[in-house]
Amino acid sequence: MVYLDHNATTPVLPDVAQAMAQALARVGNASSVHALGRDARRFVEDARESVAVLAGARPAEVIFTSGGTEANNLALRGTGRERVLVSSVEHVSVLDSVAEAATAPISIPNPNPIPVDGDGVVDIGALEALLAAAPGPALVSVMLANNETGVVQPVAKIAEAARRFGVLVHCDAVQGAGKMSLDMAGLGVDLLTLSAHKMGGPQGIGALIVRDGTPLNPEARGGGQERRRRAGTENVPAIVGFGVAAAGEGVAEAPRLRRLRDDLESRVVGVCGGARIFGAGAERLPNTCCVSMPGVANETQIMALDLAGVAVSAGSACSSGKVESSHVLAAMSVAPEQAATAIRVSLGHDTTEDDVSTFLEAWTGLYKRLGEPHDTAVPAPAAA
Ligand code: PLP
Repeated sequence: MVYLDHNATTPVLPDVAQAMAQALARVGNASSVHALGRDARRFVEDARESVAVLAGARPAEVIFTSGGTEANNLALRGTGRERVLVSSVEHVSVLDSVAEAATAPISIPNPNPIPVDGDGVVDIGALEALLAAAPGPALVSVMLANNETGVVQPVAKIAEAARRFGVLVHCDAVQGAGKMSLDMAGLGVDLLTLSAHKMGGPQGIGALIVRDGTPLNPEARGGGQERRRRAGTENVPAIVGFGVAAAGEGVAEAPRLRRLRDDLESRVVGVCGGARIFGAGAERLPNTCCVSMPGVANETQIMALDLAGVAVSAGSACSSGKVESSHVLAAMSVAPEQAATAIRVSLGHDTTEDDVSTFLEAWTGLYKRLGEPHDTAVPAPAAA
């Protein structure tokens, strides 16, 4: 199988698997005072250091969670800010946290998500207008890079604008981490979400990084772990794996992946004049391509590619495995009929030129069979 779904999850890196296997073979609760417990504690703290370095934060600011979803929930609900402004292209774990907060009696609903332009980039002027319309304590949450399109948000500028109104800023950096350089201080955010399985680590472990001095009420209660900010026995093997993944060289792969992705896109557009690459006018992650095939439903494409041995996905797949319409493309004012023909191809460290060719062969074959009759556009001239 050619795996081109790295934004959904990445293969576990061999040194991560090895470190986790060693950790699994040991016994020890990181809170126990005996020697085995102290060993487990040391593994956890080494990993914490590694994650802190990745994010440009201090180890004490790192809270291990069960993944990006829990970290986003904690960030959005934990600061006690009643007014939470999020962009319209956030991950569902952010959007649903706000939707739920809106039903709580103390919370002011968020009727106006921060809009994005046609490329999916947050409109900073609109954010400023929303903040000016209701001054007071608030939390702004904008992701570093979008999981469906790869579009990178100008988070440092957003945080700078938000700061002028004295509000807290959270950034979901799940997709950006390991693919682009990350510096929490440079971004100017107060809270930052990470997830190990998007960067060669295991599933089910992530972190919320909380800048010193930022208020945070725990959601999980019942133990003093993680400096009383997230109760529960630490998942030592997963944390160890996260630490190894965080120290990985993912960002060094960016130029190679960008070349492969750009090549894939120019060949797709060369074959199919009506193919649209979403977010192409904005800065994007080097590994991500969200592309439409005129007249062919994304579910049909995914199944046909699957049969051809290529794994890709639509931008958003719900937990039942069904393809849902994309709120991200809708926020970018993409017509629903076109959004329904968009798939996401996401490359990773193990992707080769041959993988891209296999994808192109299968995609082109499908296009010739089902898409071409619907395609009124002329293919782009072949690159020189
Ligand atoms: N945020 C973004 C942008 C994501 O892409 C994802 C996962 O797809 C998450 C959060 C959730 O992370 P996790 O799978 O670790 O819960």
